[in-house]
Amino acid sequence: MSELHKATKHHDSKSMTITIGVLALQGAFLEHLNLLKRAAGQLKSQGFEDTFEFTEVRNVQQLERCDGLIIPGGESTTMSLVAAQSGLLEPLREFVKVDRKPTWGTCAGLILLSESANSTKRGGQDLIGGLDVRVNRNHFGRQVESFQAGLDLPFLKSKDSPSSEPFPGIFIRAPVVERILPNVEGVQEEEQAKAQTVVAPSKSAKDDQARGAMSSHVDIMGVLPGRLKKAAAMGAEVNADEKAGDIIAVKQGNVFGTSFHPELTPDIRIHVWWLKQVSDAIITSTATR
Ligand code: GLN
Repeated sequence: MSELHKATKHHDSKSMTITIGVLALQGAFLEHLNLLKRAAGQLKSQGFEDTFEFTEVRNVQQLERCDGLIIPGGESTTMSLVAAQSGLLEPLREFVKVDRKPTWGTCAGLILLSESANSTKRGGQDLIGGLDVRVNRNHFGRQVESFQAGLDLPFLKSKDSPSSEPFPGIFIRAPVVERILPNVEGVQEEEQAKAQTVVAPSKSAKDDQARGAMSSHVDIMGVLPGRLKKAAAMGAEVNADEKAGDIIAVKQGNVFGTSFHPELTPDIRIHVWWLKQVSDAIITSTATR
């Protein structure tokens, strides 16, 4: 029995039903739903008491039913355009930044959850925000430069599963986190002043409330090493320690983002981990309410 499982029992003898939405405007939402169902099946077979329900999210009513949300990979410009047309952008911002409900974005989803994104035409895309980071879109180049890399993700290791099998990271026109932004006033304006950079709005009173609600610490959850070494081998002067690399997974409070696409693999480990995170977050929020 996991620690979490015990915590659930302790908190409330009845188990919870948790509704997870997957934003289904564009991109790989069906793949996420498949993996979520498999992940929930595994948790159930391990004796996890909560029940998970999954739903596609295309409108505000569907979003309102959700306790947690996944924003899939795809094309972030298209997704934000459709979200704006469907009147979903503001409700999504509220879901993530004011209500602080657990949200995970993969690839294009990570871009939308960032407070700042470069390599973007001005006015070319609206961000939801929630992660105090700047991403660089299409960091590794074009579609043909897509690749797969075995990732060492420390958060997947635990006493129960010390397995260090690398996670199959699929990178397709993937962004990386190129800067963790300080959670201070004025940083948005600084970011906005950069060419080809868009930022999530932070001017309204509601957004001030949102900034106050956001956890201030960004955790680096995964890096892709090796590129610096490669650059050094090719003669570049590189001055960084062994562990340095491109940041490809971050978490800030309840907001989680990955550059790569777990939904395009058969590996359910991150989905299992994230479902437990959602359950944990609900326990914490009801305990402090
Ligand atoms: N490059 C895409 C974008 O900017 C993301 C690619 C992906 O999700 N695979 O939205």
